Amino acid sequence: MPMHSQHRQTVIERLKTSRHGGLTTTEAHDRLKEYGQNEIQHELRVPAWRVFLRSLLEPIIIILWIAIGLTLVSASYDFIVKNDHAHGMAAIYEGIVILIVILVNSSLTYWQKLKAQKSLDALSAISRHQVNVLRDETWQKIDAVDLVPGDVVDVKIGDFIEADLRWLTVNELQINESHLTGESDAVQKTRDSLAADTELGSRTNMGFSGSTVVNGGGIGVVTATGMNTELGKIADLLQQTKQQKTPIEQTVSALTKRLMFAAGLVVIVAISYDLVKEYLNTGTITVVGLMNNVSGAIALAVASIPDALPVVLSIVLTIGARVLARNKGLIKSLSSVETLGATTFIASDKTGTLTKNEMTVTRFFANGINFAVDGNGYDPVGEIHAVETGKDVQATDFLPFIHSGILNNEAQIQRDEIGNYAPLGNPTDVALVVLGHKAQVSRDDLLGQTGDQDRDILRILPFESTRKMMSTIVKVGNRYELLTKGAPDVVMRHAANARLADQLVDIAAANEVLEQQILSYANDALRTIAVAQRELTQDEALNATQEELEQGLTILGIAGIIDPPRPEVQKSIATLRKASVEVVMITGDHAATARAIAYRLGIVKDKQAQVVEGREIESMTADELFALVPDVRVYARVSPEHKQRIIKALQQHEQVVAMTGDGVNDAPALRAADIGIAMGINGTEVTKDSADLILLDDKFTTIEKSVAAGRTIFANIKNFMRQELTTNVAEVLSILLGTFLITRPIGHISELTPTLTTIMVLWVNMISDSLPSFALGYDEPEQDIMAVKPRDVKRSVLADHLLSRVLIRGFVMGLAVFVAFYWAAKSGMQQNEAQTVAFLTLVFGQLWHVFDARSEHTLFRRDPFSNPYLLAAVLFAAISSLTITLLPFFNTLMGTSPLSWQVYLAVIFLPAIPTFILSGIKELFKIKIW
Ligand code: ADP
Ligand code: MG
Repeated sequence: MPMHSQHRQTVIERLKTSRHGGLTTTEAHDRLKEYGQNEIQHELRVPAWRVFLRSLLEPIIIILWIAIGLTLVSASYDFIVKNDHAHGMAAIYEGIVILIVILVNSSLTYWQKLKAQKSLDALSAISRHQVNVLRDETWQKIDAVDLVPGDVVDVKIGDFIEADLRWLTVNELQINESHLTGESDAVQKTRDSLAADTELGSRTNMGFSGSTVVNGGGIGVVTATGMNTELGKIADLLQQTKQQKTPIEQTVSALTKRLMFAAGLVVIVAISYDLVKEYLNTGTITVVGLMNNVSGAIALAVASIPDALPVVLSIVLTIGARVLARNKGLIKSLSSVETLGATTFIASDKTGTLTKNEMTVTRFFANGINFAVDGNGYDPVGEIHAVETGKDVQATDFLPFIHSGILNNEAQIQRDEIGNYAPLGNPTDVALVVLGHKAQVSRDDLLGQTGDQDRDILRILPFESTRKMMSTIVKVGNRYELLTKGAPDVVMRHAANARLADQLVDIAAANEVLEQQILSYANDALRTIAVAQRELTQDEALNATQEELEQGLTILGIAGIIDPPRPEVQKSIATLRKASVEVVMITGDHAATARAIAYRLGIVKDKQAQVVEGREIESMTADELFALVPDVRVYARVSPEHKQRIIKALQQHEQVVAMTGDGVNDAPALRAADIGIAMGINGTEVTKDSADLILLDDKFTTIEKSVAAGRTIFANIKNFMRQELTTNVAEVLSILLGTFLITRPIGHISELTPTLTTIMVLWVNMISDSLPSFALGYDEPEQDIMAVKPRDVKRSVLADHLLSRVLIRGFVMGLAVFVAFYWAAKSGMQQNEAQTVAFLTLVFGQLWHVFDARSEHTLFRRDPFSNPYLLAAVLFAAISSLTITLLPFFNTLMGTSPLSWQVYLAVIFLPAIPTFILSGIKELFKIKIW
């Protein structure tokens, strides 16, 4: 018999568990072995070998395959036609080296992909879904993957259902299971048995893995986990979210494609040039002539592609994600790293993010009397006294208000070993609990009474940020009562009267007094809450709907709750303002409270700044809102739906919007934002799931740090792109100059000798260039990165004169390499020696240039010793590049050759000159365009 058609007691017996004890840890352990982990396995994961094969067919690598093809042709020609063994073997070596480079590059790409994935997985493991489960008779939090059938779990609003459940207790429980049924309305859950043939969508006594709790809460017993759940059965239909390329990765891959095209063109031009030259000299074109050009063409093709760029890029992004994590910002995808740096608007929740969320009732208004409350924090001691002196107050003046406030309340305070009180539950509710203790009453006291004061809680209608109220239905003796509290304006709208000076005053008459009181609290930055009650009939108590119940209320009082701003936030906001990032406060609180806090935090400069309320947004057209959003910094009494509209309007202004959220209803807004930010501690599982950034410490300051980190990473990416691309330009140019300008043999060197051998070019691209580029990923920001405007996302990385700078630097460096080669040839060096001179001139040219590339301005602006990784990489590149000119093995393989010490000194130090001169000119004449 299916679980939904059996009595819940039978289900519990069948699953061999207990409603009040849960499973034992040992039993749960055994079941985990038997049933496996509670997770959906995606069949669609691409197998490792496919990823590897695919990396062999990347555009960049294809160029290298072509190069190998050409070396083979060249080798066959040498062996068969020319019978030139030495040359033939050289070509074969070249082919083998290129093959090795391909394999190394692909392995590196593959390894990096795995590592990036692992690193993201590891980061997201920190935020893995947790469930509240009953084991060994205690409620505890465990990872959702460890759930087993028979576990008793407790869910509340904002949670995911992590396995298939049969409900044992439900409390106004509503669940969205649209992922299974396609029905977007929430389903009200029950616990009664249903007919065996009830369809999935109507099995209201069951909960299904992957659905979300949108209201209330409940307790259920797990009936199926992992692939046995309804979700698991359709898992094959679920698309694995594809690893998307980040915008920069897309730019880079588009760029390399363009470069490939250019490379092809350059190679064709160079070869045609040689052929035309041959034709003009001899009147014919021969295979010999063509083949003589091939080795130069291969070098040229390889030179024009930044082979290592994609790998370096992805490593630098991963480094960035780790930097963020160290700052307590957990990023979910690499592309968010980039977007963060470009953020122009941060829309933040007030409570908990900008404020401490340590709420204390400091004032309240009950029975027409204004009270002040002493005491600190959660300490349940403090005196309650009337503000107007000389007034004779009795406990009965405030007790009805306090009773309602603490009975309609699920929070607690708990004393730890050292005697400190810690809050448990909703902070607003905790504040009322503490107030209760100060008046010597607690929820437990009230519930423990007997006789006609015997109280029983029948139903709880939980707080929702859309409704802004919470109610509890209590049976007192044989009467029924509804206790309600919520945002004062909302409660007043649902009220019939208010208790003032022991009279029930009609709400219309009481309105002014109440309003005035609320406003005076709000102007003092106090959060306000109205507490009310109403008598019910038995029928109403048991059967009426929420709307029917929450009306005709009697207002018992208003509480003013202080929630101090976090001290460090003010500085963060100032920093962000300097960085041209606007901070917007969005809150469910009263407009005046919001304004007062915004003023204290520096979000608005004007005490009377405009505050837009949710209901105003409600009545606005999209155009009106569009016109409004650029100037508004505070939104109050806002519901989650309004957040989405605010984001959209800002995005229409081409702003990059980051938005925080904590409740279940915030998930759509988080998805709509460019960067959705969830709270790691107080956030619901659902919001964490839809966020791009999770604040592990819930602090606003972490957003500021993440923005700074995002900007730094982007700047570093630009720096190494400058470096890598300059090298490519220099390589291509030096070879082309050789082709075009050396038309007759010079000394021992034929006019067909390329300036650099293919393997030298590969060495430069893969080692002496890319290692320092990695190291640039660890660079600290150049200047105060938060003193400049956010980057314009629409502009490419190559904009802002990056390209002109690369072309000029590359041109000069290429020219230097060519001149060095030419000089070497003139001074009578052998081919290998001259190429080695060119090679080392290029290597050291780059190694000097990297110190310039890492600055937006010039090399004089940065401390060359500030990045130890960079120094190590440069040193390694320098030493290894010199070493390969000395070792016979590399001499044969790469065509390098030892040089005299004078020449070594020259190729190490002379290449510094162009960089110093160009940087000097730029600095002197304050040149901006390169
Ligand atoms: P925010 O998160 O921006 O502070 P909320 O949506 O939490 O806004 O709260 C909005 C209003 O709802 C508060 O100003 C308060 O009046 C009321 N409220 C908040 N929490 C509770 C609660 N637990 N019970 C009743 N009313 C509440
Ligand atoms: Mg809130």
